[in-house]
Amino acid sequence: ERAGLTVFKNVTPKLADGTVIEVAANIGSLEEIEAAQEAGAMGVGLFRTELLFMRHMHLPSEDMQAETYAALAKAFAPYPVIVRTLDIGGDKPIAGIEFPDEENPFLGWRGIRMCLDRPNIFKRQLRALLRAAVHGNIKVMLPMVADIGEVRQTRVLVAECAAELKAEGVPHAPFDLGVMIETPAAVLIAPALAKEVAFFSIGTNDLTQYIMAADRLNPTVAKLNDVTNPAVMMAIELTAKAGVAAGIMVGMCGEAAGRPDLIATFVKMGLTELSMSPASIQRAKKTIMALAAGE
Ligand code: PEP
Ligand code: MG
Repeated sequence: ERAGLTVFKNVTPKLADGTVIEVAANIGSLEEIEAAQEAGAMGVGLFRTELLFMRHMHLPSEDMQAETYAALAKAFAPYPVIVRTLDIGGDKPIAGIEFPDEENPFLGWRGIRMCLDRPNIFKRQLRALLRAAVHGNIKVMLPMVADIGEVRQTRVLVAECAAELKAEGVPHAPFDLGVMIETPAAVLIAPALAKEVAFFSIGTNDLTQYIMAADRLNPTVAKLNDVTNPAVMMAIELTAKAGVAAGIMVGMCGEAAGRPDLIATFVKMGLTELSMSPASIQRAKKTIMALAAGE
């Protein structure tokens, strides 16, 4: 089956009305660029920065981060590279940040919550991203957003970083700021969020666990951890509606984005970007082309 799919590698999948559906890659390191390009990725829809932070015995420097993000941007230009800011919590500790003991790490100090409480760490990453944006089409997205204040606080920090870089004479460029939709709160405030961000990316892995109140790592409740549950599909639909009404891009970067049996539903809801592991890309392109052909 694999060999038969390679004809889709360089295809730009479009719907019958001409809408391009961007099929992008989820990756977590520069080593994965080649596999993503071999698969025909139209950019990166989710660059997980956790590995960068977990690989070393210390926090990565601004220079090291800027080089990594710039290499990514260059590799995929003019396609966008969506870099997710650090999404780490008590379940995945890293050197250089002390985490509290938490009874419920998935409901605890993780993602954007931790970053806003540690502005020195967060600003180092934001400065690196502003510097890398000179070299390609960098977009930035925030994980675990549950409150609009988190977006506004981030914007203040981004402005501070840009002003600092300017004063230092360091080349930098602005980037689009978006949010992951992966908490029920974000779904419910999606119409308000859509007015303040450039794009949504639906994180179905966490969205499913939080909508269904079923730990994604707990096999005992695995049956509830199902993206096709009507409650989760309703959350995805509400998000898409809010994004489409506001005229912003709505994408998806959870595992579900690569499922051939769900792609038609997501596209009908108005999603125009699907980001997945490189191994799923060609099959997803084929699925979208078949939709356009009315199969
Ligand atoms: C998600 O939650 O759907 C997602 C893409 O992020 P992660 O799996 O890294 O939490
Ligand atoms: Mg997530």
